[in-house]
Amino acid sequence: MNQLSDRLNRLSPSATLLMSQKSNELKAQGIDVINLSVGEPDFNTPDHIKAAAIKAVEDNYSRYSPVPGYPALRQAIVEKLKKENGLEYTPAQISCANGAKQSVCNAVMAIVNEGDEVIIPAPYWVSYPEMVKLADGTPVIVPAGIEQDFKITPKQLEAAITPKTRALILCSPSNPTGSVYSKEELKGLAEVLAKHERIIILADEIYEHINYVGKHESIAQFAEIKDRVVIINGVSKAYAMTGWRIGFIAGPEWIVKGCNKLQGQYTSGPCSVSQKAAEAAYAGPQECVEEMRQAFERRKNLIVKLAREIPGLEVNDPQGAFYLFPKCSSFFGKKDGDHVINTATDLAMYLLEVGHVATVGGDDFGSPECFRMSYATSDENIIEAMKRIKEALSHLK
Ligand code: PMP
Ligand code: GLU
Repeated sequence: MNQLSDRLNRLSPSATLLMSQKSNELKAQGIDVINLSVGEPDFNTPDHIKAAAIKAVEDNYSRYSPVPGYPALRQAIVEKLKKENGLEYTPAQISCANGAKQSVCNAVMAIVNEGDEVIIPAPYWVSYPEMVKLADGTPVIVPAGIEQDFKITPKQLEAAITPKTRALILCSPSNPTGSVYSKEELKGLAEVLAKHERIIILADEIYEHINYVGKHESIAQFAEIKDRVVIINGVSKAYAMTGWRIGFIAGPEWIVKGCNKLQGQYTSGPCSVSQKAAEAAYAGPQECVEEMRQAFERRKNLIVKLAREIPGLEVNDPQGAFYLFPKCSSFFGKKDGDHVINTATDLAMYLLEVGHVATVGGDDFGSPECFRMSYATSDENIIEAMKRIKEALSHLK
C-alpha cells in the first residue's frame, strides 16, 4: 500500500543521483564502469580548507549555529560578492543552507503560492521543476535547443510571462548544458524582467568559477531588478566541497528572512564545522579555484574533440560548468539486439549496460533529444569513456 502523501507521489526521484547509484551498484558487482553521471568535482577539498575544519572541531564548533549561518561566514560571503562580483550586500541579506540545493528549495518555498507559475528554461537542472511542484507551483518550461546554444531569448521570456508568473529560475553557467549567458544576453532578459515587478529572479550561480569565457556575469548587476534577484551559490563546485553541504542565498532581506524562518523550523543552521571550512574557502587563498578551473577547461577541450569524432552526435562547445550535452536523437528508432533506443534515457541505459559508461538521459533535464556527460574526471577516464561510447553507438543499426 502506498501511504505517501500526494505531494511526494507527485515528486520524481533525482535522475542524476539515480544514475550514479546504478553505476555504483554495477561497480560493486565488479563491473568496470566509468561514471560520467553525477556532477561533482573529482578533486579533493584543498588542504587549507580541511585544516580550518580540523581547527573548528578542536575549537569546539560543536553547537547549533545561528539559523542563517555564523556572522563570520556571512561576512566572508558579503566580501566575496563585493570583490568578485562588484555587488553590495549586508550580512542580513545572506542565508546559508545545507548546500545550494537547499538554498534553491528554500527560496522557491519562500515565494511560491499554489498555482503560481515559475519559468524554467529547458534544458534545466533536474531538481528545479520538482522543487516548484513541492511548493504547489506550476513549472512553465521554455525550451532552448542546441541551435540557440541552449539559451532562451528575451522574446521567449516575454512570451512565457503571464499575470501568474512569480519567478524565473536561471542557471548560468548551466547544468546540464555548460552554456553561459553573456552580459548582453543577461541585460536583454533583465530589460524584460524590469517591466514585470512581481517576478523574482532566482539566479543559480553555483558554477560561477567554472567558466571558460572569462569573468562571471551575474544578472544581479542590473540595478533595475537587483532588489528582486536572489543569487544562489555555494562552495560545492568551486572548492570541491560537495560533501560539506554549504550553499547560500544573497537577496532582498524579506526573502532571506522568510528562508530563515523556514529553515528555523526545518533544518536549523547548516553543519557548524562545514561553515568554518566554507569561511576558509571564501576568505583564504583562491589559487586552488583557478587550478581546478584550468583542469576542467583542458578536459572540456578533450571531451568536445572526442565527442565530435563520434558519428551521430551533435556537440556544442560549452563555455562553463563541467558537462557536455550532445544531441543524440539520430539514434532514436535504432537497435542492437534486445536494446531498442527510443529515448535519450534508453540511450543512457544502453551506454551503461553495454558500454559500461554512466551518463544521464536528457529527458529529466527537459531535453529528450540529448544526454549529459560530466567530465569532472581524469583525462584517462574521459578518453576510455569516449572510446567505449563510440564503440557502443557504432552497433546501433
Ligand atoms: N544547482 C545546480 C545547477 C547544481 O548542478 C547543483 C549540484 N548538485 C546544485 C545547485 C546544488 O549544489 P549543492 O551541492 O551545493 O547542493
Ligand atoms: N549537481 C549534480 C548533478 O547535477 C549533483 C547531483 C544532484 O544534486 O542532482 O549531477
